[in-house]
Amino acid sequence: MNQFRLRLTFIFILLIGSSVLVAGIFMANMFQQSHIEALKEYMVRELKIISATIDWEASRPIEEQREYYSNIAKKLRESADARLTFLRSDGEVLGDSDARASLMDNHMLREEVYEASVNGIGYSIRFSETLQRNMMYVAVRLDDQQTGGGYIRLATSLSQVETSIRNVWIGLLLGLLALFVISGLISYRIALSMTKPIERITLVAQQITNRNYKSRAPAHQKDEIGQLGLAINRMSDSLQKQMERISENENRLSSIMSNMVSGVVMIDGDERIALMNRASEELLGFSSKELLGSKYNDANQQLEFTQMIEDCIERRERIREEIVFYFPQERILEVNITPLVTGAEDFGGVLVVLHDITAIRKLEKMRSEFVANVSHELKTPIAAIKGFSETILAGALQDQETTRSFVQIIYDESERLNRLIGDILDLSKIESKRSPLSFSPVHMLSFVDNCLHVMNSEAMKKSIELEMQVPDSLYMEADEDRLGQILFNLLANGINYTQEGGKVRVKVFSYASGNDGLEPDRVSIQVSDTGIGIPRKDLPRIFERFYRVDKARSRSSGGTGLGLSIVKHLVELHRGTIQVESEPGMGTTFIIDLPMLHA
Ligand code: ADP
Repeated sequence: MNQFRLRLTFIFILLIGSSVLVAGIFMANMFQQSHIEALKEYMVRELKIISATIDWEASRPIEEQREYYSNIAKKLRESADARLTFLRSDGEVLGDSDARASLMDNHMLREEVYEASVNGIGYSIRFSETLQRNMMYVAVRLDDQQTGGGYIRLATSLSQVETSIRNVWIGLLLGLLALFVISGLISYRIALSMTKPIERITLVAQQITNRNYKSRAPAHQKDEIGQLGLAINRMSDSLQKQMERISENENRLSSIMSNMVSGVVMIDGDERIALMNRASEELLGFSSKELLGSKYNDANQQLEFTQMIEDCIERRERIREEIVFYFPQERILEVNITPLVTGAEDFGGVLVVLHDITAIRKLEKMRSEFVANVSHELKTPIAAIKGFSETILAGALQDQETTRSFVQIIYDESERLNRLIGDILDLSKIESKRSPLSFSPVHMLSFVDNCLHVMNSEAMKKSIELEMQVPDSLYMEADEDRLGQILFNLLANGINYTQEGGKVRVKVFSYASGNDGLEPDRVSIQVSDTGIGIPRKDLPRIFERFYRVDKARSRSSGGTGLGLSIVKHLVELHRGTIQVESEPGMGTTFIIDLPMLHA
């Protein structure tokens, strides 16, 4: 931009300077002309005065004439302050103020003399060899009938004129120089005022390039530059809006990408990993820092997976497969690979989308196992019912005693079937959370007392002692029916898996869980027995459906294998936890931890 300003300044100076120079030359010429003209007129007048005052002597011999005219010439030289020459009509020099007339050649052919012979007055300017300077010569013709006439010539040096013209030139040059400087400064200022807004606009354009969209160009001028500023500002506005929209979209997109559950990996046309979201980092066990930019087949991935990508790149069609990944942990991933085709045939890489379907597959497996288990569990009592009824029908009716025992078995089995179906329905109801809990304050002492009362006849059969240890004033918020279900199940198990004469005890207490609060906020319910206990290896599995440590024993005692599973679900619905501690042969304790209040 500075260059433009300098160029503009230079053009201004050139224009002003050249016009001033032309005017100067013209003026100097005029000055010279008028000066010379004035000098000429002055000399003619002098010549006329001289011609009128002298007596023209032509009759005397030439030597005398020469002396006579030379004397006059020398005398007049003082007052005229110029060289004076007298010539005969044929051009012979009669007298000269500065030289000896007799030594001078004929002057007829001198320009001024010749011109005077034709026009009466003649003049010329030339370099005098005699005086070594520029001289102006003026001659007049004298017309005299008696003497035959002649010429008088005045010659004056032009040095004075030349000096004054030189002075004029010096003045002119100095003036020109001053003008140059002034015009230069003015031009610079004008150029500055013209280029400044352009510079500002350029700066704004540069700032826009550097992504600073807030800067604005001056646009208050009414001219084209103002228009340009306005246009730049509008462009800046729209760019700013567009960039805001783009970055907003970008943010949205990246927040979707990083928060989505599915893993997304993009592999570009050069087969390099171009993008990885957070979920994919978790699923594949690599951070994007490690993998971005590297070739997909250098990424240390499971062979199956790498081959799938290779397949998709080769075939350019969508592939879907379920792959079991063993790193970073065992997982079943649904891998979807889609080729990215940008243009007509342009291959832009592939997009890999990973879904973790481990839980779904596990659930499916559990469901089918459950169905298999249920069928199996149902088969046994039904087979018994069918078998004994068949036996009765086949003729066992005669023996009343046997018939009675068979019918008793059929009754027991159908009772068990009923329990089993009841438990299954219960479990599915609890699992699907179809019946929400209804909380109410429960007075724990009377609640536990009631439960023990109900279970008492069962315990009596095995002469098992039921004990309880519950503070009198303890209340807690719970769904009383569900809490009852929990306690009944645990008590039933305690009685079932304890030999005759044993003990089953219920202990309830409240405590403060937080280290700050002194108010108790949790309730612990512990059901312990002095029974057979549970082997260590079975402990982690006893809450699974249909899991039994000893199948025969459980069956003989009428268990369904669903009790603890229902208990665990109910405890979790109360936002509590259940734990088990057991020592084979010594006894078992189930510890339930529940919040005292529910928001
Ligand atoms: P079941 O109907 O067989 O009792 P549960 O789900 O209630 O089914 O219990 C699962 C298994 O856990 C039982 O079969 C039994 O082997 C074991 N178990 C449960 N409670 C006790 C206990 N108090 N003492 C010893 N073993 C127990």
